[in-house]
Amino acid sequence: MSARNVGNAGTASTSGKSIRIGISSCLLGQRVRYDGGHKRDRFVTDVLETFVEWVPLCPEVELGLGIPRPTIRLERVAEGTTRLVMPSTGEDLTSRMKAWAEERVEVLSALDLCGYILKKDSPSCGMERVNIYRLNQAPARAGSGMFAEVLLRKAPDLPVEEEGRLKDPRLRENFVVRVFAMRRWKDMEALGVTRARLLEFHARHKYLCMARNQAGARRLERVLGSAGTAVSDAALARAYMYGFTAVMGRPPSTRSHTNVLQHMAGYVSDDLDPADRSELTAAIHEYRSGLLPLIVPLTLLRHHARRQDRTCLLEQAYLFPHPHELMLLNHV
Ligand code: SF4
Repeated sequence: MSARNVGNAGTASTSGKSIRIGISSCLLGQRVRYDGGHKRDRFVTDVLETFVEWVPLCPEVELGLGIPRPTIRLERVAEGTTRLVMPSTGEDLTSRMKAWAEERVEVLSALDLCGYILKKDSPSCGMERVNIYRLNQAPARAGSGMFAEVLLRKAPDLPVEEEGRLKDPRLRENFVVRVFAMRRWKDMEALGVTRARLLEFHARHKYLCMARNQAGARRLERVLGSAGTAVSDAALARAYMYGFTAVMGRPPSTRSHTNVLQHMAGYVSDDLDPADRSELTAAIHEYRSGLLPLIVPLTLLRHHARRQDRTCLLEQAYLFPHPHELMLLNHV
């Protein structure tokens, strides 16, 4: 199946360019698994698909193993040495898979991907905790699929998740936040990286970063603030993206969301009447207590920011991290 382009990112993409995501083909319902089956994922096909363009890829099919095919697995042959093996024939596929993956990821990196969703547990696609078989011992859930390993190494800034982890609402929401942030980053890069644009990007993502890691957010400010003129804009962008990826990789806690919400509420509180002010305060408090989802205080903040025309808040990606139709903030 070719990649499908069925929409753009709504308010989250400044360029109107599509959000392109690489994906293990079987998760889209394509019958590419060893037994001719698939592993269609409902969130992927029924929810996310409206907003993204998929770039499907099945490493085992592209390697020429066919459908159906004998199973393959990771085997530990010596300390620190893992091979990709087809047990029924004894064939060692390690070199073929690695060489193919190195080339394929190069091709993928030219495709403007904003994220990647991998199939868990697969010796080719699994991101982590993939079984490694050992002689006379139980398998250890300690490996990464061989294609996934190359992808993660060669594209360290790319938001990558497994479909299994995406069943956790917090991890799911964080992944989608990162995907849309990556679109905005690429939009900025396409205009040409300058210090002014990097500062603007950081200003827009300040509260998203603060909600994940306050110290990390401050470090990012220092990266941009302390860079002398000897540092090229490209080097500055690389240093910033390295730190941004690290900060954004960790989903925010309820407590850190609460801190950010209170901080942002400070910009609108003075001009609220007592009833509106106590409604906002109560919503933040009840979110913190687990009685309300994040969408409630966030919607109130958006509302008051619009009414008061607070540009400094309305420009924040924190208030509009991804299209509201995804309803991801209703579950965190
Ligand atoms: S997990 Fe990866 S290799 Fe296995 S069927 Fe799915 S896409 Fe193909």
